[in-house]
Formats: sequence, structure tokens, C-alpha cells
Amino acid sequence: MRNPEQQKKMSDVQRLRYQSDPEFKKLINQRSANWKDKAFRDGLCTCCGNRREEDSPNKNYCISCNTKHRNRIRKRFRERLEIVFAYYGEKCACPGGCDITHRRFLTLDHVGGWRAVHPGHEKRITTEVLVKWIIDNNFPDSIRILCMNCNWAVRSGEPCPHEIINSEGTKSA
Ligand SMILES: [Zn+2]
Ligand SMILES: [Zn+2]
Ligand SMILES: [Zn+2]
Repeated sequence: MRNPEQQKKMSDVQRLRYQSDPEFKKLINQRSANWKDKAFRDGLCTCCGNRREEDSPNKNYCISCNTKHRNRIRKRFRERLEIVFAYYGEKCACPGGCDITHRRFLTLDHVGGWRAVHPGHEKRITTEVLVKWIIDNNFPDSIRILCMNCNWAVRSGEPCPHEIINSEGTKSA
């Protein structure tokens, strides 16, 4: 048994209707939700409808579907991360000048602190959520790439020591 609304491939006509007709969309989603509720109560995987193993790490999915879902999420995250790094440049953007380009040293930094960029958020959002947010918000200037050192140095709002070191270097040269 499969989730009939989710698994069955929608015809093009249906998909068009799903996208353009809010009532139809509501109906399909409701049917899908009902199916999932029942599957969950029956101890079935809410994705494929097979029996959900007792030791499945996910309370909704069987082990096999859980692995597939997790891989899909991880793959999407990596793709988004690539897009974001390609946009902001593969380099620390410290205004004091910093040559770090190694990906594993690089972080996504909120200019002016993450609270300023995500007002109303109680907790820091995860990198997974952040990369999606960046793409959905059309790559805002409030995000930049910093290496871990520069990121750490500016966390209290002070300028990065690079800005002081490098300006002194210029003066004495
Ligand atoms: Zn399954
Ligand atoms: Zn740096
Ligand atoms: Zn710096």
C-alpha cells in the first residue's frame, strides 16, 4: 500500500490544477494527511506504507525511507551550500584583508550579528536552514563569508584585528 495522493504520479492536468486551484490543493493535501495519520496509527511507514520497524530511527518512516529522506536532505543541503559559496566567493571577506580560501576554514557570517539579520528569532538558525533562507531571500548583503578566525574576532562587534594590523603595516611601509 502506498500513499495514494503522494506516491501516485500526478498527471500534468492534475498538477496544473493542484498549483492553480487552492480548493483542489486543500483537498489533495487533506487526503494525504488523512492517509498519513492512519498509516501512522497502524504502525506503517507514512511514506511507502510498509510496516515501520520498531528500531527505525524515525517515528514516521521505515528504515529504508528514513535513509532515503536523510540522503535527499543532505544532498539538497550540499547543493545549496555550493550555490551560496559560489555567490559570495570562496574566500574570507574580512575588510582588513585575509587570504583564507580553504572551505573548511570558511563560515557564513551575519553582518552586524545574526539577530540583526533574523529579527524575531529566538535561537540561531541552523546552517541547513540558513542556506535555504539565503537563496529564498536572493543572496542578501547581510551575509558574507568569513574564516573562523575573523568570524570569532568580530563576534562582539569590534573590527577584526586584521583591520588594525594591516592599516599599521601600510603606515609603517
Ligand atoms: Zn517506507
Ligand atoms: Zn579571515
Ligand atoms: Zn580578519
